[in-house]
Amino acid sequence: MKVPLLDLKAQYAPIREEVRAAIDRVCDSQYFILGPEVAGLEEEVARFCGAKFGVGVSSGTDALLVALMALDVRPGDEVITSAYSFFATAGVVARLGAVPVFVDIEPGTFNLDPGRLRGNLTPRTKAILPVHLFGRCADMDAILDAAGRIPVIEDAAQSIGSRDARGRQAGTMGRMGCFSFFPSKNLGAFGDGGMIVTDDPELAERLKVLRVHGSKPKYHHKEIGGNFRLDALQAAVLRVKLKYLAKWTEGRRANAERYRKLLPSSVTVPADVPGHIYNQFVIRTRERDRLQAFLQQREIGTEVYYPVALPHQECFAALGAKKGDYPAAEAVATDSLALPIYPELSGDQLGAVADAILDFTRG
Ligand SMILES: *Cc1c(COP(=O)(O)O)cnc(C)c1O
Repeated sequence: MKVPLLDLKAQYAPIREEVRAAIDRVCDSQYFILGPEVAGLEEEVARFCGAKFGVGVSSGTDALLVALMALDVRPGDEVITSAYSFFATAGVVARLGAVPVFVDIEPGTFNLDPGRLRGNLTPRTKAILPVHLFGRCADMDAILDAAGRIPVIEDAAQSIGSRDARGRQAGTMGRMGCFSFFPSKNLGAFGDGGMIVTDDPELAERLKVLRVHGSKPKYHHKEIGGNFRLDALQAAVLRVKLKYLAKWTEGRRANAERYRKLLPSSVTVPADVPGHIYNQFVIRTRERDRLQAFLQQREIGTEVYYPVALPHQECFAALGAKKGDYPAAEAVATDSLALPIYPELSGDQLGAVADAILDFTRG
């Protein structure tokens, strides 16, 4: 049975008319950049998360970049982040001339290990950038505790709606939280988009100025920003989809529960934590590459997120990371595999994935 890793057409079919009406609304208005649709989405996402302000931007990457700019991260500063994430998390730090300081992960959660934070703090540490990877919140209590007065920006690109052990939402625990609306995220646009949420009115205002080239008032620039604007078509689509996000998350969680029941003990499955929203369902197995090839033969889509730990990316070679410096991140780079988990996955499809893994295990 054919099982794609993600099936966005299945998500679109039941909301097609509603989405097309929203797109029509924007076309009729001919108001394409920022404006009322973006303001509406900002308010709705902020309310959904329990944050005071939302600032829509051009992508999740730009959300991170503008958040760092709003904290005045400059060349020579250090930003502590996770050794295991999508490249953008570290790329934005380096683009500002700052140095990404990588911290290894807890192998069970794929998230930054807070126990290793204090040893990496220096007088140049300007910010801490933990990631809530795959939809599971990092241990924010421990991270905030170690951070002290150093601002924490949450990379919640994969985790909109996720909650930590105390029920707080991803993106609302640090100074700013950054979301991505890349189509494969749990709340995906019809193109690129992102948002920063914060409770700090001054930061929210600064972010809004930075996303329009630092312009305030119009055509007067006290500082240099960029074009980091979200467009109205994306916002209109996202406003429709946001209404379904909680339901979709329930679907993902139910699928994760079924996988936990069906998968053999030869693979390690993500632990059952209440706030996990499963942007990805990532298993671990020593035979990762062989299993992936086997599943591909059965037309089951999987993906390796991510095959190289960030400190070992070629572009960071000058930082001098050696093999073995980040043992947990290096291990998951070789043994982790994401399985289909999207909410529209049918019971038969999920069963086919589990059966295939059982067959593989039996040899
Ligand atoms: C997707 C993602 C980003 C970047 O978001 P884009 O919208 O693709 O720019 C950043 N960090 C993480 C962890 C991501 O998964």
